[in-house]
Amino acid sequence: APYPLQMQGKVIRGFGRGSKLLGIPTANLPVDDSLAPWIADIEFGVYFGWASLRLPPSCPNQATTSSDTITHSGFSRSEHDEFEADFYGVEMRLLIAGFIREERDYDDLRGLIADIRLDCDVARKSLDREAWALRETGNGTLDGS
Ligand code: ADP
Ligand code: MG
Repeated sequence: APYPLQMQGKVIRGFGRGSKLLGIPTANLPVDDSLAPWIADIEFGVYFGWASLRLPPSCPNQATTSSDTITHSGFSRSEHDEFEADFYGVEMRLLIAGFIREERDYDDLRGLIADIRLDCDVARKSLDREAWALRETGNGTLDGS
């Protein structure tokens, strides 16, 4: 399917491992293949793009979307301190702009954490560099015009 790929839904609860184990919270979306038919064909891996939350005040965040379920949107808490609180149940939209890398297995958490940080750097740099004509509409949605 052509980029950007879109997906949206309400943020669901996982096992809390992102924060507890990795120190990197990842907001999870349920997979709805009627809304996002491209999911069936996409390669497992790490993707980058934008995430927006329907929260006042809301702003789009750089996202890395990961792996087995394609349901993770990780954006670092340190950069977005306005999201100290949980936002389970909040509507989140993803606009996936491109592919970063395939999935990998890790022997230790340190390697995984290091790679997630790298993924976030790649995502930020890609979104900075590429001329994404995306604007914030002010109501928590992204406007591609
Ligand atoms: P879960 O297993 O439920 O996904 P995580 O430990 O991965 O739990 O944390 C993700 C949750 O943390 C999100 O659903 C959201 O409510 C909250 N959260 C707070 N700040 C952030 C952030 N900057 N990025 C992602 N999630 C965040
Ligand atoms: Mg998570």
